Amino acid sequence: MERRPIMKYLDEFRDPAASRKLLDEIRRQATRRWTLMEVCGGQTHSLLRHGIASALEEVVELIHGPGCPVCVTPLEAIDFAQKLALRGDVILASFGDMLRVPGSSRSLLDVKSVGGRVKAVYSPLDAVELARRHPQDEIVFFAVGFETTTPATALAVAQAAREGLENFSLLVAHVRVLPAMEALADSPDCRVQAFLAAGHVCAITGYEAYEPFVAKYRLPVAVTGFEPLDLLQGILACVRQLESGEARVENQYARGVRQEGNLPAQDMVREVYEIRDCPWRGFGVIPRGGLRLRDAWRYYDASVRFASARPLDIVEHPDCRSAEVLAGRIQPPECPAFGTNCTPDAPQGAPMVSSEGACAAYYRYRPAPAAS
Ligand code: SF4
Repeated sequence: MERRPIMKYLDEFRDPAASRKLLDEIRRQATRRWTLMEVCGGQTHSLLRHGIASALEEVVELIHGPGCPVCVTPLEAIDFAQKLALRGDVILASFGDMLRVPGSSRSLLDVKSVGGRVKAVYSPLDAVELARRHPQDEIVFFAVGFETTTPATALAVAQAAREGLENFSLLVAHVRVLPAMEALADSPDCRVQAFLAAGHVCAITGYEAYEPFVAKYRLPVAVTGFEPLDLLQGILACVRQLESGEARVENQYARGVRQEGNLPAQDMVREVYEIRDCPWRGFGVIPRGGLRLRDAWRYYDASVRFASARPLDIVEHPDCRSAEVLAGRIQPPECPAFGTNCTPDAPQGAPMVSSEGACAAYYRYRPAPAAS
């Protein structure tokens, strides 16, 4: 089969003429202004970067959900990771995105600058390789992220067990998307009328996982990707449903998502992890909102292995309103610190740091107007 250059493939999903047609169709269909939430931070960035949010301002209010995994990783887990990195006998391996996220008082990069042993890796299997190469050290991988990353961390711990790598463990802070959507929908001040679900999460879970949610809350869900045409098709699907009073799951990302999802990945995750009630940064505890290692894998649980290093005093920056940003109650520029006391160079909260954070997206694509 002939392979197409990736940019040509991407161009098809950034075609300006097709985008204009979809924008016109959304405006034509909408008889009123609808409120949609995109759950994924990658989609937030794309909506702002390509001007979709402002182009549709009159007919669709896009509010930005809690789908940045780095932003919702609990403060306690970040402080714990920092303490482990400072022990001397531990190398803390993490995705690069986590390194600049502020904990109670500093970030993992700050910890590294004072001698903490922190290593950025591209994959959990890189951390397994570290465990092979450093048998005298404890290698802890900071396992964060949604359903997209859990199969890879499950695979890593299974690989470490197969090889008998006793110096490998996971600090697990994995979270689950659907319980957060339920928490939002249950909230008495929820204004969301339809959701754009993240294609990469659904590639693992399958779009059928959203059907009970739609049946319970009667809120349309469109599974979309990250390119302009993906997002516009998803928005159009939601607007059409809202205008006709329907509520169902629509898969606008058929090139990546199947009804049942990735079954081998789901099996891998089920074997290693079990569901738990879980604190989300900015949200508090979300029932069934996260994962922990099953008892059979407890040996590889860094929170058990290093239980004495668990942090006690955890303090969120008092000026940071990320809880309201993550719940879609305010837009980032409504936070008084936005662009003044809080910038990507001097962030006060995780949403200003992460490549998927809503505050960073607004700072980059919609800076606050200069003071006169
Ligand atoms: S702008 Fe900064 S301080 Fe305000 S909510 Fe966002 S991350 Fe927190």
